[in-house]
This record gives sequence, C-alpha cells and structure tokens, in this order.
Amino acid sequence: MSVVKQLYQLQEIDLQLESNGQALKQRTSQLGENPDVVKARVELSSQHQHLEELKHQQLSAEWEIGDLTSKITTLEQKLYDGKIKNPKELANLQHEIDGLKTKCSQSEDKALEIMNQVEFTEGDIATASNRLKTLEAEWQLQQQHLTTDIEQLETILSDLEQKRQLILAEIDPQIVDLYQEIKKQKGAAVARVDQGMCRGCRISLPISELQRARSGSLVQCSSCRRILFFA
Ligand SMILES: [Zn+2]
Repeated sequence: MSVVKQLYQLQEIDLQLESNGQALKQRTSQLGENPDVVKARVELSSQHQHLEELKHQQLSAEWEIGDLTSKITTLEQKLYDGKIKNPKELANLQHEIDGLKTKCSQSEDKALEIMNQVEFTEGDIATASNRLKTLEAEWQLQQQHLTTDIEQLETILSDLEQKRQLILAEIDPQIVDLYQEIKKQKGAAVARVDQGMCRGCRISLPISELQRARSGSLVQCSSCRRILFFA
C-alpha cells in the first residue's frame, strides 16, 4: 500500500474519531437529572404542602364548629329549663344563642369551602403524580438509551484508536509530522484528485503533479499544500 493511501486511511480514521468523539460528548452531556422531572417533583411537593395546610385549616374549622355547638346546647338548656324567669335575662340569652348560631353557620360555610379546596387539590395531586411518573419513566428510558449509546461509542473509539496506532506504526514519522502539520492548518491533510483538480482547493493541477500523484508518490498540491490522493 502506498504511503498516500495509508495517509488517506489515517485521515478517514481521524474523521471518524472526531465525529464519534463529538457524539460521545453530546450523549454524556445529556446524562443526569432532567429539568422537567425536577420541576414536576418540586410542583408536586408544593401541592402536597398546600394540601397539608388545607387539612389543618379543615380540622381547626371542625373544632370551632364543635366548640360553638356545645356552647349553643348548654345555653339552650339554660333557656328552656325554666330556671330563668326574668324576661330581659331570657331575651339576652336568646340573643347570645342567635349570635353563636350565626357564627357557627359561618364556620360551617368555611369548612365546606375548605373541603371543596381539599378535593380540588387532591385531584391536582393525582394528575401531577401521574405526570411525574410518565416523565420519570421517559427519562429513565432515555438514560438507558444514552448509556447504551455511550458504551457503543466508547468501543468504536477504542477500536478506531487501535487502528490509528497500527497505521501510524507503518508510516515514516516525518511524513506523519507533515500530515499533522497540514491537518492543523487545513482541517484535512489529504485531498482527493477529481477530474484533474485538487478537491481541497478546487485548483486544476499541472500534468506533472498529476502523473506523480497517480503513481502513488507523495505529492503536495502546489496551491494548498494538501497531500494529493488518487482514489
Ligand atoms: Zn489544493
């Protein structure tokens, strides 16, 4: 195999190393927490907290109703047991009972409103939990795919690196240096020759250069310095 063909193969390997290396970097950056999952977890936790607060309010309201009801019962017993005869005192007692009944009815309205909010929030929590479960399942699957991809890419890269070392061992180090130097400047060191043109710079090549390149000798394009390769 001519040295130019070896350099061309080296370049193919370098290109594959680069594209697979980029793919690996991209996949690796996607590993880890997913912002959507994190956000959904935070939202669900704040809904749970809201529910706890509502239940606490509900309990307070129920205690208040119980308290008022027992006060009303006591006062009503006093009103009807016949021990109080004074009409003014009886009227005052009735007035106090009416006031407590109004307050109790307000507390019952409040308790009902809180109960509705509890039901509403429990519904929200069920929806949010399902959404989180779906997101977590999707995320887990995505992470599994990513892990598989990463393992495959690492194998590909290690195979390519081995091939690269094998080819490098066969090429004169000075020529490898030349290849690396042009690669650094131009991105690709080897250019195919196509219809008498260097495909690196699109300049038509002199016949003498074409002939030497065709024979497999190492010839650099007189215009862009790339190493010319006949496929
Ligand atoms: Zn050129």
